[in-house]
Amino acid sequence: MQSFLRKLNGIFARGPVGNTSTTPGDIALSDDEFNNYSFVIGSLFTYFNDLPEEQKRRFVKRVHHFKEGKKFHFIGLENSDDATTLVSSSAIQVTFGLHNYLLSHFKDIYILADAYHMDNDDELYIGHVAPEGIYLSWKHFLYGYSHKNDNINVAVHEMSHALLYNNFFAQYGMDSHFRLNYEKFSKSTGPILADVITNRQSYLRSYAFSNLHEFWAVSAEAFFENPKGLKDNMPDLYEALCRVLNQDPMTAVKILKSQP
Ligand SMILES: [Zn+2]
Repeated sequence: MQSFLRKLNGIFARGPVGNTSTTPGDIALSDDEFNNYSFVIGSLFTYFNDLPEEQKRRFVKRVHHFKEGKKFHFIGLENSDDATTLVSSSAIQVTFGLHNYLLSHFKDIYILADAYHMDNDDELYIGHVAPEGIYLSWKHFLYGYSHKNDNINVAVHEMSHALLYNNFFAQYGMDSHFRLNYEKFSKSTGPILADVITNRQSYLRSYAFSNLHEFWAVSAEAFFENPKGLKDNMPDLYEALCRVLNQDPMTAVKILKSQP
C-alpha cells in the first residue's frame, strides 16, 4: 500500500523533476492526517513549530514513515498513538538533515512509564539503546521537551546513540554523509576534550566525559536543547555538530545542504 501511495505521490508531485529527491518518506498524507500529526508534534516540539510549512511537511512524512516501520512496546502505561508519534519525532529531529533517517537496525522501541532497572543492575535508567531496541522512560521523555534550555533531553540522547550504532555497528541503513562526517567529528573533538581535562570544567555536564559515545550523545542534547548556549560556549563543537548532522537548529529551515 505504501509503495502504491508513494507512486501516486510521485505522479502528482509538483515542481521540476529531480528538484526534491523522492525519498521513501515521500508518501501521500491527507490534509487531515497532516493536521493531526502537526497538532500532536506541535504540542511538544518547538523545533517543529518553528519550521517553515514545506519543512513541516517533510518532518511529518518522515515521522509517519519512521513510526510505521517500528513496533512500539508499552511497559507500565497504556498504549498511546500520540506517544509513538512523539517518540518518532525525536528520531526525526536528530536525523532531519540526513538522507537515511529510519534507524533501520532498530525494529522495536520500548516506552516505559518511569525510570527502570536493568537485569542485575542497581542503577536506575531513564533510557538506553541496546542491539535489540531503543528504551525510553515516558516520564523523562516528557520532562526533556517540557524543560527547555537545561540541556537534558533523554530522547535526543538515546536517538543520537541509536544513530551512531546504526551507522557504525549495524548491517544496513547507513547514511554516508553521517559516517564520513562523524569520523571528522570524532577527530575534531580531541582538543575539546583536552581543554576540559586541563580546565576541569565544561559547559557540558560531566557525564559527557565518561567516554566518546557519551560525549556524542550529551553534545547532541545541548545542540538541540539550547543551540545558542552551546554555540556561545563551545563554538567549535557547535560547528562540528552542524556539519555531522547537516543541520543548524538556530535557523528556521534547519537543514544546511539538501542531499540527493
Ligand atoms: Zn548515553
